[in-house]
Amino acid sequence: MNRSLLSLAQMNSFAIKAYTPQIMEINSKEDLYNLSTSTLHPTNFYILGEGSNTLFVEEMAPTIIHMALKGIKVEEIDDFYRLTVAAGENWHQLVEFCIENQINGLENLALIPGSVGAAPVQNIGAYGVEFADFCESVTWFDFADKCEKKLTRKDCLFAYRNSVFKQALKHKGVITAVSLLIAKNWQPNLSYAGLNQLPKESINAKAIMAEVIRLRQSKLPDPKELPNAGSFFKNPILSLSRYTELTKKYANVPHYHQKNGDIKVAAAWLIEQAGLKGKRRGNVGIHVNQALVLVNYGNGTGAELFNLARYVQDKVYKKFNIKIEPEVRLISSTGEKSMEEFQHG
Ligand SMILES: Cc1cc2nc3c(=O)[nH]c(=O)nc-3n(C[C@H](O)[C@H](O)[C@H](O)COP(=O)(O)OP(=O)(O)OC[C@H]3O[C@@H](n4cnc5c(N)ncnc54)[C@H](O)[C@@H]3O)c2cc1C
Repeated sequence: MNRSLLSLAQMNSFAIKAYTPQIMEINSKEDLYNLSTSTLHPTNFYILGEGSNTLFVEEMAPTIIHMALKGIKVEEIDDFYRLTVAAGENWHQLVEFCIENQINGLENLALIPGSVGAAPVQNIGAYGVEFADFCESVTWFDFADKCEKKLTRKDCLFAYRNSVFKQALKHKGVITAVSLLIAKNWQPNLSYAGLNQLPKESINAKAIMAEVIRLRQSKLPDPKELPNAGSFFKNPILSLSRYTELTKKYANVPHYHQKNGDIKVAAAWLIEQAGLKGKRRGNVGIHVNQALVLVNYGNGTGAELFNLARYVQDKVYKKFNIKIEPEVRLISSTGEKSMEEFQHG
């Protein structure tokens, strides 16, 4: 291995031993203005937060733009707190900071790994709550204009694990900060199964956060002990007619109704029914308790994990005629690619 290459093994939760020719650390707006045009060609760079939703498929990665901007500002505006938080802050630490300061609302989103700047990208969500519920605006540094812009929540086009940052704005800039509006009149959200077991008399944001942490730790492997990136696949969303057809054969498929009438189906169930839960292939595998979580047992490579993901996708497709799509971002030496782009060279 070329000694001038930099290891990314500590910068991704799959602990993949990938390398990059350079890491551009972004500690100030100046650092962003100074990024060269050649670096900013889509095949030449990848923006990295904490690497908890990233799979380096190949041994080489492009130049890494690592967001390290820090800072949390709190303002009181009538019935709300406004938090302006820099992209390089850690999401879970932000949740803890809020609860410690009696700014209640983010507790259901505790212990989601990663940076604040990545939170809007896939509109992180858990336990019945998502980032979009609190987003007032996202501050965006546009690479072409070399200036910051504010996108309102509406501009962000948030959807299930999706936003404008994964679509029209991909490769065009970087999130530098987010602004959250959190109501002073706190209302607990206990809609998600598991949280409704909490004793009614002791419900407060701190107790909910503790319960969310307990539930998450009991269900998901800790990436520090067993490297993983949480759910590898998104839950597929089916039209009502397609879902009805599915239930003719599989009446008990776990599902969630969407506002527009579509039905979200549990990808973990599909994978489990395809007989893949707990399956191991060399250095990588599907977690024994969580069929949606792919894990690196030790010296797994990005290619091994990618091939396993393809295998899972194929098996589910053959059994159910449903294509499950990765939630995790797949990175090659020439930037982000879709599963199909990797397959077809
Ligand atoms: C154990 C575990 C559990 C998880 N549970 C959940 C969960 O419950 N809910 C959930 O939604 N997710 C979950 N995830 C996924 C992950 O936590 C989120 O996707 C998180 O937002 C990733 O943050 P990151 O900084 O690590 O992102 P990275 O992996 O570094 O990047 C992810 C994407 O965001 C882009 N990006 C990062 N920073 C910026 C920026 N400043 N500007 C523009 N683009 C940027 C990257 O280019 C990439 O496309 C889990 C992951 C793990 C490991």
